[in-house]
Amino acid sequence: MPQKTKKTPMMEQYLAVKKQYPDAFLFYRLGDFYEMFYDDAVKGAQILELTLTTRNKNAVDPIPMCGVPHHAAQNYIDILVDQGYKVAICEQVEDPKTAKGMVKREVVQLVTPGTIIDQNASEAKENNYLTALHEKDGQYGFAYADLSTGEIKVATLTSTESLLNELMSLQTKEVVIDDSLSQPTQTLLEQLKVLMSDQPEVMPSAEVSYVSQDLQQTLEKQTVKQLLAYLTTTQKRSLAHLQKAVHYEPSHYLKLDHNAQRNLELLKNLRTHKKSGTLLWLLDETKTAMGARLLKQWIGRPLLDLQQIKQRQAIVENLLDNYFERSGIIEQLTQVYDLERLAGRVAFGNVNGRDLVQLRTSLAHIPQIRYILEQLDQDIYHDFLTELDPVEDVADLIEQAIVDEPPLSITEGNLIKAGYNAQLDEYNDAMKNGKQWLAQLEARERQVTGISNLKIGFNRVFGYYIEVSKANVKKLPQDRYQRKQTLTNAERFITPELKEKEELILGAETKAYELEYQLFTQIRDQIKDQIKRLQKLAAKVAQLDVLQSFATVSEDNHFVRPRLSQNERTLDIVDGWHPVVEKVLGKQSYIPNDVKMSSKLDILLITGPNMSGKSTYMRQLALSVIMAQMGCFVPAKQAKMPIFDQIFTRIGAADDLISGESTFMVEMKEANLALKQATSNSLLLFDELGRGTATYDGMALAQAIIEYVHDKVKAKTLFSTHYHELTVLEQELPRLANIHVGAVEKDGELVFLHKMQAGPADRSYGVHVAKLAGMPASLLTRADTILHQLEGKDVQKTTAMLKEVAPVQVETEADDSEAQLSLFSPEVVTPKEPVGKEKDVLTEILDLNLMAMTPMDVMN
Ligand code: ADP
Repeated sequence: MPQKTKKTPMMEQYLAVKKQYPDAFLFYRLGDFYEMFYDDAVKGAQILELTLTTRNKNAVDPIPMCGVPHHAAQNYIDILVDQGYKVAICEQVEDPKTAKGMVKREVVQLVTPGTIIDQNASEAKENNYLTALHEKDGQYGFAYADLSTGEIKVATLTSTESLLNELMSLQTKEVVIDDSLSQPTQTLLEQLKVLMSDQPEVMPSAEVSYVSQDLQQTLEKQTVKQLLAYLTTTQKRSLAHLQKAVHYEPSHYLKLDHNAQRNLELLKNLRTHKKSGTLLWLLDETKTAMGARLLKQWIGRPLLDLQQIKQRQAIVENLLDNYFERSGIIEQLTQVYDLERLAGRVAFGNVNGRDLVQLRTSLAHIPQIRYILEQLDQDIYHDFLTELDPVEDVADLIEQAIVDEPPLSITEGNLIKAGYNAQLDEYNDAMKNGKQWLAQLEARERQVTGISNLKIGFNRVFGYYIEVSKANVKKLPQDRYQRKQTLTNAERFITPELKEKEELILGAETKAYELEYQLFTQIRDQIKDQIKRLQKLAAKVAQLDVLQSFATVSEDNHFVRPRLSQNERTLDIVDGWHPVVEKVLGKQSYIPNDVKMSSKLDILLITGPNMSGKSTYMRQLALSVIMAQMGCFVPAKQAKMPIFDQIFTRIGAADDLISGESTFMVEMKEANLALKQATSNSLLLFDELGRGTATYDGMALAQAIIEYVHDKVKAKTLFSTHYHELTVLEQELPRLANIHVGAVEKDGELVFLHKMQAGPADRSYGVHVAKLAGMPASLLTRADTILHQLEGKDVQKTTAMLKEVAPVQVETEADDSEAQLSLFSPEVVTPKEPVGKEKDVLTEILDLNLMAMTPMDVMN
């Protein structure tokens, strides 16, 4: 029987550490490498494309191993964390020279998807959020932090749906959970593919000070503690830059459900998943990373408060009207670095001299920005003028202490300016004088010996030496010169005099480096005390940056300032356009459209052929509402709009991100949510609702939903449909009007004008198209006849949705799978009121709790 090899002390140490971090890759520091062993090595080698070796090849049970060089480790860590793994970094924590026995090693940081801090410039425009979740009695404590900026927010969420919205809008990658989570919540998190990290067993107490006193709710306090405990245990370093957790109320912002966020392509293009072609892409003319991050947050959280919106509008307008001053501000902002993250690095203790110089140059621009704002308007910019603190003491400190072009390293000197510290100046003088003395010595020895190519050099092994070519060696005086090294063509010597000075020079250098490092850390700590001020400043700079971005974009695209009102429900947009589609198509090709809905009109029923511009029209309105409530101007010639509380959308392909449910089921669920949660102040956008089921079924539901919105919800609603039959509803429902997309025949082709017009769509497009396609004349005549019969019936129709089979013989059969505008509508109907049982059925359908049902149940 082969014996298992006994573990070496090192492997025992490794295993002991690994035991504490079973769910992380353990990067174990050995010399210049981080090594992985066992399963970590096998998996790590595969993901990182490293060579897998073994530690003790000849043993019966060799240990798999692979490693990465420590100076390149960050790249490998990023790859692993990006794929949703955690990496525990285990370092030597004592000097191997003084250590007795095994060098002590400890995990100094646990890097996780929610806590990674990227230095990468493109990612600086994104926040990376770590979220914590605690569930109690159907409510959620929800807290999130961005470790790089120190921001912490907390809320109480009252439904799973609102949890989903928040997680989606933050694009959270990691959630700290405890055992309070119910099974459905856990399933939701699994489906969203976020990493669930358990809260640490021991809650460190130090973090409690970050939990602001005003967080009354124990649920929120508990969640913030959970978050902070996790941060403390994973980071193991100073978290001085963390800000006090601030409570926020999701209901204080325009609610955008996750479908709206996706379908309106606010942050991500639906096809490419990139920024291009999104609202963010359109609006982003920010000049700082802080501004870019704030813009993203604002898009997810448009305001509800008219005063707040007006404040933003006033600034945008002022900046728009004052091109010269705005250009000045932009020029200054361009030179401001990422103050928020610089502050974070000061707190972490990983700033270097260059970071401090960046901080100083950034601060230097603040007084100039203030000056411009003061000249512009003291009232409008009141908040900015009080809060744009140039943190002069910090700027001055850096100015006095740090050289203009410091090196990356903070341990090799050349960081601190002359005149900052007397002792340091002395060391530097000694070094400088020493070097002068060496130059003099060289000159003197050349003269004395008569060797013109005699020179003084330095290397790490021998220190300073005098080098003489072989041919000249015999000219040297024997007594003073002592041979040290022989090269091919030259010999190197030292003299007692040289060695004496060397000690002075090198001593001064070592001491200077040490002192510079000490001074640097002192300066860093002094700045650390001012972090809160820097963060406040950063927040203000970010706001100004976003507002100038709004002004710039509004000017470039000719947006107008919308007139908003809190209680009037009139929507009057003149010549509005979809800002992104227009940008892509070009101003010339885009046909602007009005949106007119008086306070007495709630529903616009939009008909028109496929590809005529119905959904673009709906999105255009939604985007204008979002832009308006962010404080930006809107794409139109004139705009008057109410402040909406929520936007619900059922637009575009019903692709379901959460589970594999049928398209129709997803549609119904979304519609159900909208109907349940919308208020009369909401905006509903329903695009082709009901097309996922049989024609009658779909039409019946569509009508019932329209009626429900009309009578009960009373929200402003755009409802596009290919069920032409629904247009008769205008006669029944006073708060509904028909509009349609116009078309003309041009050069033998049917051209969609993309222009919205009053009234229902003309049904004869289909016959037109068929004619253009060259169908037989007799067939077309017959189609015309049928059409006229149908239209005749239309007039008689009241709320006819449930139908009988036609008296006219038509060869074609109604195709249940038909999804688009029914060009020849083969169904011929006789009107029938939904009475008695049918009415009951409709009522029952509307009362169904679709969220709690399976697709089969729904069909039944
Ligand atoms: P529908 O919803 O009616 O099927 P879409 O809204 O998807 O149609 O529009 C189809 C295409 O028509 C869009 O991709 C866009 O390029 C173009 N389009 C839509 N509205 C306009 C407009 N107002 N002006 C110019 N082109 C438009």
